[in-house]
Amino acid sequence: MVLKSKGVNLPSRLWEKLALLAGITPEDRWAKLSRESANRLVQVLTATTLHVTGKSMNKEEFVTCGGIPLNEIDSKTMQSRVVPNLYFAGEALDIDGITGGYNFQAAWTTGWIAGQSMAST
Ligand SMILES: Cc1cc2nc3c(=O)[nH]c(=O)nc-3n(C[C@H](O)[C@H](O)[C@H](O)COP(=O)(O)OP(=O)(O)OC[C@H]3O[C@@H](n4cnc5c(N)ncnc54)[C@H](O)[C@@H]3O)c2cc1C
Repeated sequence: MVLKSKGVNLPSRLWEKLALLAGITPEDRWAKLSRESANRLVQVLTATTLHVTGKSMNKEEFVTCGGIPLNEIDSKTMQSRVVPNLYFAGEALDIDGITGGYNFQAAWTTGWIAGQSMAST
């Protein structure tokens, strides 16, 4: 089944939506997919424009994931181990917590440490 076995590395629900948008039905099989259907699928996968209409229902849009890897930072000073005299704090770092104050606390604590360290050098 085309809908159940993804042809590309996409989240399953997104894959299903896009395949349906391309006219693929739940009964369609890869082996019997017509050239026309395959081309429509390629078109949908490569040229679909999505418009953002709102925020996630899960209210997950609080913090940015990723950032400066923590193993590149001296946590006692927040100074970069890669570039001397460069300091990082808060969301610039690869830290993200669930909501509830953890991200504020991370920003305040790392900011305070970085500030103290910069002032004392
Ligand atoms: C809607 C929302 C709700 C949240 N609720 C919570 C919560 O309940 N609890 C919690 O722990 N965390 C919460 N967070 C996350 C928390 O706010 C952040 O993790 C925290 O504020 C990060 O602090 P920061 O100083 O690293 O970055 P920021 O607070 O983003 O500060 C970065 C600052 O840099 C400025 N800036 C950016 N680019 C430049 C530039 N080129 N030159 C000069 N200035 C620049 C920006 O204008 C900004 O003022 C929430 C976030 C959002 C968006």
